[in-house]
Amino acid sequence: MIEREQSLESYLKFLCQKALELGASEAVTIPVTDIVIDERTRLKCLVPLCSFYDINLMCPPNVMPISEFKEILKRYHGAILIKTTNAVSSLPEELTNPVGLAEAWEIVKSARKNVSERQTVITDYSHALRDNQERLYKIIEQIESLCIREGYHFAAGFAAGACLLCDECVGVKSGLPCRYPFKARTSMGALGIDVVVTAKRAGLKVNFAHNEARSCIGMVLVD
Ligand code: SF4
Repeated sequence: MIEREQSLESYLKFLCQKALELGASEAVTIPVTDIVIDERTRLKCLVPLCSFYDINLMCPPNVMPISEFKEILKRYHGAILIKTTNAVSSLPEELTNPVGLAEAWEIVKSARKNVSERQTVITDYSHALRDNQERLYKIIEQIESLCIREGYHFAAGFAAGACLLCDECVGVKSGLPCRYPFKARTSMGALGIDVVVTAKRAGLKVNFAHNEARSCIGMVLVD
């Protein structure tokens, strides 16, 4: 048993190194017991109501209940967290000063339809965020595949936030399948993981300041 734990620990370190080679800005191991579950993450999908709720295939209520994920998590012995950092570091001025989240969201939405000079800046910024998320998804997919090839057949990867791979998700009500089923990943928050606290426990910095580059965080459970 000790031998197996030691070999898993060194394999997790190898995976972190691999993630860095694939373009992650940081990658760290985390004891599964340090992954924090807090049901309030699900409340934050509803208050204020997220525009992805009941639409995005990777978001609530289209994912498993937190209670089920909690039970599954208990069966795992290894985990790593992976972070990718946005290439565009400064937040467009329009998004630093809006009076509220609703206003910021309206600005981002309208930027996709109009192409005035300032809106192009916001569109570029939102695309940079998406590119960064896509980079994370690719790394997660590659790490997960590597684990499965090497005998860790329960390896499973997740990402933070709604899936932004398409400009518009097919949506549950369309009855259509996901366009990128092997790339898209369930939101960790949707499964009850407090990503901020979990990342801090693992020593990863999570940025919310206007003048700092945004990052995306993902996780691979390994067993
Ligand atoms: S890849 Fe596209 S269709 Fe699939 S969940 Fe993400 S946004 Fe929706």
